Amino acid sequence: MSIIEAKQLTKIFGNHPEQALQFLKQGWTKERILKETKMTVGVNQASFHIEAGEIFVIMGLSGSGKSTLIRLLNRLIEPSSGQLLFEGRDIVQMSAKELRQFRRKKMGMVFQKFALFPHRTVLQNVEYGLEVQGIEKQARRQMAEQSLQLVGLGGWENSYPDQLSGGMQQRVGLARGLANDPDILLMDEAFSALDPLIRKDMQDELLQLQANMKKTIIFITHDLDEALRIGDKIALMKDGVIVQIGTPDEILINPATPYVEKFIEDVD
Ligand code: ADP
Ligand code: MG
Repeated sequence: MSIIEAKQLTKIFGNHPEQALQFLKQGWTKERILKETKMTVGVNQASFHIEAGEIFVIMGLSGSGKSTLIRLLNRLIEPSSGQLLFEGRDIVQMSAKELRQFRRKKMGMVFQKFALFPHRTVLQNVEYGLEVQGIEKQARRQMAEQSLQLVGLGGWENSYPDQLSGGMQQRVGLARGLANDPDILLMDEAFSALDPLIRKDMQDELLQLQANMKKTIIFITHDLDEALRIGDKIALMKDGVIVQIGTPDEILINPATPYVEKFIEDVD
């Protein structure tokens, strides 16, 4: 069974999503729907499955729907239509309580803007998310310390974010995402703000994490080289639609549409 399966997952931003869905069925484009109804199609009938332990990359230009898709997966936003299954269970049907538990046990999230609290130490920053999840002090300290060890920041617990380099700050972000030992790690442009060399280090580190800890990683990037380097599978999005899903080789050798072909044109 796939760890995640999405069927025709769609997100409309606007007052009458059911109306926009109707227009989508009739073949209207995202532009036309926006122009005539002022509603935005965030994600349009995305269907895919993600296997446990793989790095699934969501790639596409700015505005193509990547963040909307990852927010749907984390259920930070509700789909307008479609199904979302985790290990076969429909999470759209989960109660708020079940959902909280599910997130706490299964999901970690890492953002582009490291979103660290400047007046808290590195350790307190990692502990914070665990505190919000209601984990008691002793346990959360231990989990945070372990997580910092894991990303190579053992010894930096009592430093403050502004004493760290950009790469180290992002490691703190990564430690925070990993602190609850989630099965699934969601990363939205997590490395996009880093210098190329540090970025490559972080990519290596992520591949190590995947190999050693068998995490399922959903990784958003608009950078094709990054996608090809770390992705087991890549989903390429355009205007809310997944235009192709495949391994890096499949996408390079067999681009499904002229758009994909154009997208990969510059890769050597
Ligand atoms: P990406 O992450 O690929 O840059 P997004 O998922 O952020 O793209 O955005 C996809 C589309 O959905 C864009 O057209 C964007 O303007 C729109 N969008 C995203 N979030 C909202 C929102 N909260 N309200 C209205 N429109 C949104
Ligand atoms: Mg985004």
